[in-house]
Amino acid sequence: MQLIKENISKFKIQDYLGKNFTCDCGREHTVEIENVIIENGAINKMPEVLKLLHYNKVFLVADTNTYKAAGEQVENVIIGNGFELKKHVYKRDDDLVPDEVTIGEFIINYYNDADVIVAVGSGVLNDLCKFMSYKLNTPYIIVATAPSMDGYASIGSALSIENLKTTVSGEVPKAIIGDVDVLKDAPLDMIRAGFGDMVGKYSAINDWKLGKMVNDEYYCDYVSGMVMHSLKKCMETAEGLENRENEAIRNLMEGLVLTGIAMSFTGNSRPASGSEHHLSHFVEMMYLFDKKQAPPHGVKVGFNTIVMNYIRQRLSESNPDINEVLKKASSFNKDKWTDDVKRLFRQAAPGVIHLNENEGINSYDKRVERVKRIIDNWEEFASLLKEVPHHEEIREILKRIGAPISLKELNVDKETIINGLVYAKEVRNRYTVLQLAWDLGLLDDIATEMESSFFNE
Ligand SMILES: [Zn+2]
Ligand SMILES: [Zn+2]
Repeated sequence: MQLIKENISKFKIQDYLGKNFTCDCGREHTVEIENVIIENGAINKMPEVLKLLHYNKVFLVADTNTYKAAGEQVENVIIGNGFELKKHVYKRDDDLVPDEVTIGEFIINYYNDADVIVAVGSGVLNDLCKFMSYKLNTPYIIVATAPSMDGYASIGSALSIENLKTTVSGEVPKAIIGDVDVLKDAPLDMIRAGFGDMVGKYSAINDWKLGKMVNDEYYCDYVSGMVMHSLKKCMETAEGLENRENEAIRNLMEGLVLTGIAMSFTGNSRPASGSEHHLSHFVEMMYLFDKKQAPPHGVKVGFNTIVMNYIRQRLSESNPDINEVLKKASSFNKDKWTDDVKRLFRQAAPGVIHLNENEGINSYDKRVERVKRIIDNWEEFASLLKEVPHHEEIREILKRIGAPISLKELNVDKETIINGLVYAKEVRNRYTVLQLAWDLGLLDDIATEMESSFFNE
């Protein structure tokens, strides 16, 4: 089947599943998820889903919170319809961490005869069961308890191994069950985080287009359109989130799942993650080094979208001069850069330095090549940067749903964020607006300027 951009608004999530699509981008797109049900009362459809996928013996995994929120109901529906079920409910005083102990506990309690793992939860339980499904070669189904992040449909699993956050291989779920009656009762902070993760797509998609324009990176107009369409729907009903309105919650959950599907389509996280995520990873790393608790992922991503859109606007209004930019490029001080990376990234510094040298990110010749292309086509670049909503618009919508819009509310210190503006681009080799600002020799100035004005508001 051919994907045609004009039809994006007609496609529902289910239409994308279990098919191979040809696309104008030259690639085939496919996702291995077979079933997605996002509606009120979706849990009641569990027996139907199990029958359809030919599963009879269920290993149900939850923690005490998610068991209360939905697990018990899932268990009753499954047992009540004649399926066999064994369960493990994690008991923790603090949040469940997807670490070695949690994995061991999974194995000890595992139901050997199970032909499917049913995870009831959000981020952590999804990551855990995604990984266990991959390791045990047993499919899994996720019953979501919060619309809090876009990882439900993605492949990678974020675990905490030897106290370090690590992304490892995982399996996509065979089915995603999003019961709106359950999702809307999730803690408001988790709903706000999910919305922040979604708002971040403005920034991620803009960075993806930038990567195409600067480095001829692979880009799919259909996939970016599909993410933007679901984001638009989320924005239209955003104000209903605070009151837990059905449509707002459903649109948010659909957007988060669809973004995961978009990542499967492209085989990377370009449709979902750009500079706003890199800055978030940077803050997480710094907080982990200092053993401090960082704000939830999506909350940071939402706030960072205000920041990145401000930088986009600032750049779009600049008028780069090739001679000045080249002068800046030749004055790049590699020793200072290396010292800064070692100081900030600590035990992770060798990896950062290696990535940079391997890819020649800071190499003068490559930078000059990029700069020439950018300045030769500056009009086009400036108008791309203006495609995102104004930073005040993002701030306003986040404010209306009660999400943090200042560093104080976010509870992140200014120094970490300013360091992040300059050095977050080092965490991934991926072209973003931060790299553009650096290429143009403006990143340091913008960071200094934001330190004294933008972040004081
Ligand atoms: Zn495509
Ligand atoms: Zn995210």
